[in-house]
Amino acid sequence: MFGECHAHLFMDGINYRGAVNDHKNGVNIARVREHLQAYRACKITYVRDGGDHFGVSLRARELAGEYGITYRTPVFAIHREGHYGRIVGKSAQTLQEVQMLVQEVRRSRGDFVKIMVSGIVEYSGFGILSEETLEKEWISEMIRIAHEEGFAVMVHANGADAVFAAVHAGADSIEHGNYIDRECMAAMAENGCVWVPTIVTTKNLIGCGRYDDDVLRQIYDMECENLSCAWEMGVPLALGSDAGAYMVPHGRGIIREYEIFSEVLSGVSKDELDRRLQAGEMQIRRVFAQPE
Ligand SMILES: [Zn+2]
Repeated sequence: MFGECHAHLFMDGINYRGAVNDHKNGVNIARVREHLQAYRACKITYVRDGGDHFGVSLRARELAGEYGITYRTPVFAIHREGHYGRIVGKSAQTLQEVQMLVQEVRRSRGDFVKIMVSGIVEYSGFGILSEETLEKEWISEMIRIAHEEGFAVMVHANGADAVFAAVHAGADSIEHGNYIDRECMAAMAENGCVWVPTIVTTKNLIGCGRYDDDVLRQIYDMECENLSCAWEMGVPLALGSDAGAYMVPHGRGIIREYEIFSEVLSGVSKDELDRRLQAGEMQIRRVFAQPE
């Protein structure tokens, strides 16, 4: 089975408030074990977390060995104060504070650095992100600082501007990457940057009643078209489901993501699909490991 290259163990895929209540007065070990068990039940042996601010992913890493899982975590994600990212990490007002947070990741023995450089997809209409992308300078400096400390960088980015700036600054992986263009894909292919599109987060919302299904389908179609285009262009790809996000269960999230890849790339043989996905995952496993 493939690894899960983007999960948030502190969330449960059902109710964000409830999950926060679970951990806010100390990590709820029973809940962590429940989620790790969900991965083991799906024969998933590798999980890369996207961070939280309760120390849940750190505890998960300590316990993961008991479940036969190699667990990697950035501890918390880093975002710019006043911008998206509060729910999964800590904020910095200045680039100097970014540096301090990166050093905190090192002290906490994080495996890599996760940064947030754009908003999230708004499901109220097509083509909408929750906020403006960070300035190019911030994006490149955040990545440079993390690299200088010896860390690989996982970048939460949506929109062509955010993704293009991040890839050019040397991002090691791009997460989500909605609304990108061919220029972004060419840059990812050229730089060997792994794209983890997390398409299941949209697909699983279709029919749930929270959003307009026509809008969801339009967004889903865009994601599928981009995946197909990225495949053609030779972009390194890996499976991540954003497990823990609304309607995305731990364990099964990645199985559904794989099914989406298979449907979208139906003209590709299973061997070829698996070979490329394994290569993308191997690259992530190799690069996103604790620096010396
Ligand atoms: Zn995430």
